[in-house]
Amino acid sequence: MLKNLNSLVSLCKRRGYIFPSSEIYGGLSACWDYGPLGVQFKMNVRQHWWKEMIHRSDVVGLDSSILMHPSVWKASGHVDGFSDPLVDCKECRFRFRMEKEINSCPKCGSKNLTEPRDFNLMFKTHAGPVEEEASLVYLRPETAQGIYVNFLNVQTSMRKKIPFGVAQIGKAFRNEITLGHFIFRCREFEQMEMQYFVSKESADKYFEYWMEERKNFLQKIGLPGTSLRPHEHDKDELAHYAHKAVDWEFLFPIGWKELEGIHNRGDFDLTQHQKFSGKKMNYFDSETNSSYIPWIIETSIGLDRLILALLCSAYKEETIGNNESRVLLRLNPQIAPVQLAVLPLSKKEPLKDLSYKISAVLRKKWRVEYDETGSIGKRYRRQDEIGTPFCVTIDFDSLTDNKVTVRHRDTMKQDRLAIDQLQDYLNGTNLF
Ligand code: ATP
Repeated sequence: MLKNLNSLVSLCKRRGYIFPSSEIYGGLSACWDYGPLGVQFKMNVRQHWWKEMIHRSDVVGLDSSILMHPSVWKASGHVDGFSDPLVDCKECRFRFRMEKEINSCPKCGSKNLTEPRDFNLMFKTHAGPVEEEASLVYLRPETAQGIYVNFLNVQTSMRKKIPFGVAQIGKAFRNEITLGHFIFRCREFEQMEMQYFVSKESADKYFEYWMEERKNFLQKIGLPGTSLRPHEHDKDELAHYAHKAVDWEFLFPIGWKELEGIHNRGDFDLTQHQKFSGKKMNYFDSETNSSYIPWIIETSIGLDRLILALLCSAYKEETIGNNESRVLLRLNPQIAPVQLAVLPLSKKEPLKDLSYKISAVLRKKWRVEYDETGSIGKRYRRQDEIGTPFCVTIDFDSLTDNKVTVRHRDTMKQDRLAIDQLQDYLNGTNLF
């Protein structure tokens, strides 16, 4: 397990996973850019979540806009309540978020602090050419509200019966005060949220159901069960809308931290939107002939935070004999950005031609990288570091015996096999 984030941050930059945003200008705090491997990795993780949520009969998808009517955020409570207590150190002027356990400046240790004052975390901007109060809009701090305001649109257009869910993936923005820890807490990040509409009587049952479902997903995608634990919010921690909230926490190198939240939001959100919009948010249950505002069970995870958890648990440093060491990412092969590397021992013909042909065939099905530069040892090290599960090496014997070598990332085991059996062999692995 990774001990601190520094070696991961450096690997991510060196190998094209994640770069600091606007780096040539000195960067922009808590904003990150996903490089060629990072964007592919992120897409794979996103698709896994989407498939898990949408390939079932009771959940449908949505993509609502980032900018919404400002009343949405009044109704949701974000305008009045989405704030962190901000404190200034009067000695060194360091500004930070007051936590329960902090009573002195985290930077210089002084107890000479200002009283905490509320700092709203929503980014503001203006719609239209005039920057006046009337044109004020917010960048959404969560994707959930887009689902609530579309509850009736989705329910009636899709003829959904309760219980049913709406899933959404999209960017969210928060002007966070506490920064650092790489992509753990960003000012611009992506959320993957699902809102499950239920009757009040069944809310507890579905809360437990989604707790289990989410844990299974986190384990399936690659997080060990031993690095996951539930944390139930006590009364002081509960958000204003929540009846119950349990986080799946992950053991990051910075300690146990929230990865995903499961919330019983009651009928708070739909009731608020009914009140502020004047539109009835009722659901008519034809079986019981009754009409009610549904309760909501929410599952909410940050895509970037999940990416960090996956990278942290995949990162390994190993000694492999002769005092040699290697770094590898033991990523689940299904989400690894590169699944196969095709490596000819020489960049000259006719090896090149054969290797090109093999890559072209494999690329039809898998994400393949072709690399002919540098010693084979260095190329293996690079593939290990980016998490490629298999390397296919083509050597001079391949020209006569029509065989290639497949090297396994985790065990470094090598299998020699006929080129025409390669696809069957790979189909039998855990690439899918
Ligand atoms: P935290 O206590 O860590 O600030 P939160 O309780 O405010 O998180 P929620 O509002 O419940 O978080 O958001 C749901 C999920 O979105 C979190 O579990 C986390 O994975 C992710 N998330 C929240 N804020 C950020 C952020 N600033 N950067 C990256 N991911 C975030």
